[in-house]
Amino acid sequence: MFDYRLPEDLPIPGVGARVRVPFGRTEIIGICLGIGSSTETEAPLKPISAVIDADPLLTGDIIELMLWAADYYQHPLGDALLAALPGYLRDGRSLDALYETWWRIIPGASDEISSRAHAQRAALEHLRTHGATAQTTLTGLGFAPRVLTTLAGKGLVESFQSRLESDLTVHPSPLELTAEQREAVTAIHASQGRFRPFLLHGVTGSGKTEVYLQAIARTLARGAQAMVLVPEISLTPQTVARFEARFSSVAAYHSGLTELDRAKAWEGCRTGRTRVLVGTRSAIFVPFANLGIIAVDEEHDGSFKQQDGFHYSARDLAAKRAQDLAIPVVFGTATPALETLYNAQSGRYTHLRLTQRTASAPPPRFSLIDLRGQSLTDGLSNQLIAAVRGHIQAGNQALLFINRRGYAPSLLCTRCGTSATCARCEMPFTVHQQPPSLRCHHCNTRTPLPKQCSECDHDALRPVGFGTQRTEAAITSLFEGIKVIRIDRDTTRNQAHLVAKLDLIHQGEPAILVGTQMLAKGHHFPCVTLVGVLNADAGFASADFRAPEHTAQLIEQVAGRAGRAERPGQVIIQTYNPDNPMLRALIERGYDGFAALELDHRRTAELPPFRAMALIRAEGSEQRAALDCLDTLLQPIKQHANIEIWGPVPAPMARRADRYRTQAVILAPQRRVLATALTQLIDAAHAARSRTVRWSLDVDPYDMV
Ligand code: ADP
Ligand code: ZN
Repeated sequence: MFDYRLPEDLPIPGVGARVRVPFGRTEIIGICLGIGSSTETEAPLKPISAVIDADPLLTGDIIELMLWAADYYQHPLGDALLAALPGYLRDGRSLDALYETWWRIIPGASDEISSRAHAQRAALEHLRTHGATAQTTLTGLGFAPRVLTTLAGKGLVESFQSRLESDLTVHPSPLELTAEQREAVTAIHASQGRFRPFLLHGVTGSGKTEVYLQAIARTLARGAQAMVLVPEISLTPQTVARFEARFSSVAAYHSGLTELDRAKAWEGCRTGRTRVLVGTRSAIFVPFANLGIIAVDEEHDGSFKQQDGFHYSARDLAAKRAQDLAIPVVFGTATPALETLYNAQSGRYTHLRLTQRTASAPPPRFSLIDLRGQSLTDGLSNQLIAAVRGHIQAGNQALLFINRRGYAPSLLCTRCGTSATCARCEMPFTVHQQPPSLRCHHCNTRTPLPKQCSECDHDALRPVGFGTQRTEAAITSLFEGIKVIRIDRDTTRNQAHLVAKLDLIHQGEPAILVGTQMLAKGHHFPCVTLVGVLNADAGFASADFRAPEHTAQLIEQVAGRAGRAERPGQVIIQTYNPDNPMLRALIERGYDGFAALELDHRRTAELPPFRAMALIRAEGSEQRAALDCLDTLLQPIKQHANIEIWGPVPAPMARRADRYRTQAVILAPQRRVLATALTQLIDAAHAARSRTVRWSLDVDPYDMV
């Protein structure tokens, strides 16, 4: 925070208004956080150059939230506050452009116009017969803005900024709620006007969205607004459509919009014109005139945590914001994050359950295929191939899930054992066939497919392992004449391609879907009756303590795509490790069984949610320097009796794009203790600034690699 002087000729800015201020050699945009009559600064204060907003842009509750978040995530306040503004408003542009200019006749004005001013007469005539009209419409009719300003100069017409008022219509639900849904809606409704967090824990296809819709309808009926956070709108375009089908006043907020449209949605919520906002992570910062409920759909999803810069969790901030505003917040999922589940088990969250699917189909049957000693066809066991054939012959669709894009995860020389490696990351290249190349999935380096081994010059190179392209190729040749639809980041970079593929799936002809986790996210594929997981093992054996949780969520979510309509589903999981207790728990007792086991592990290992965790990362062109930097940074908190530090050590992915990556884990029995230690660390850190090493702090890290 910086102090400035307010020159007498400027209006007094409100708290939350943007101002323009001199800063160093340039001018930047600042946000007014308070007005006082004294300062602790020694040097004479510089004057504010301009007050941009007459009305404060950021509401008091958002400023409170950002102060809290900057403190909790140990992030500079200025940067956090800017994150709360849409890009369009961040650089000082005025709100005016968000409103349309309209023109109307000034009643009672005389209309003396020279008979030669045809355009002016015609424009006046149009406004007289059609009433107020948007400037864009008039321009479209051939009336240049100049014509209207001339008329305005004569006192005949005037312009005004439209408020784009949209009336709220709520379409009644065509569905009769199940008993469990009704109970959930009633419980949420009963907590209107006070803070109450809910875990809406419902198996896939149990109708969680209908619960949000009806709870929101009741909130809107009281005149309040609603916010729905969703993981990635671009992956599931249906989500917004379902809200738009029910309510007339819905805006979307995500990175696929233009800056202007984002700003319009933002302004709509701030002024109360927009009643429902459906948005991704950063929507959590949108100010509302009268927010009455927050729903976080697929709350376990990693995209709610920002992975770089300002490392906030939109899910956790949703709880904070609901608390500040004294409103209910609903966290919905089939596979709760262990933190959320623990909150429900310890009574901090109300646990609502939807155990029944709404459709008549029973939950899918799970089975394991033991791959040991089997000969496979491009990663596919004979049993899995036979199962796919059976489901296709029955006229259904099958989905094969493989969490790797590309053709094969490495290119191995069968002569000397060397695999082709990205020199910048020291990680194996992924083989791609479309187009043929080697690609590093960590730094995006691409090189042509080599003919010979770089070490021994022999032409004995062979792709090892399986990615979606390889599975697609294998399936295509095994099932001639059957449509194979591959969905991964490579085939859906373009939104239209994804939509086309989803349409193809929805046509319902027998088809085989091959894809990555993109397929697991919230899609509704009524004709899919078989889900095959090609390899469940890698995710359970990772350096990241959260990997088993994420793997189990992924398997359960992808399994949930099977049998969502009337047709019953089957899930087949291939594994080399059929006795893995985590996998067994998941198969035999479902995600809840797995979660109970994994929470026990976490308790024993004193990992989150049983302790608070932060990760400090440093990277530079020399590993030693990065490790030394962490050592220095950690010095002031090393002696804390209640703080445990693991590291500094090289990160599991020790090098990326020519940078050495190092990290240390900081653990504390309570958040409060962790926060105190981190503040101490940050305060001392300003002394340890380095030009060559970049470091960052991640509170409640999601990704440990
Ligand atoms: P979830 O989000 O829990 O996976 P959805 O909300 O997508 O489930 O609901 C799955 C399907 O069930 C949707 O097509 C939805 O319209 C339908 N559905 C939801 N509630 C009911 C109900 N009470 N009766 C009949 N169908 C329902
Ligand atoms: Zn690389």
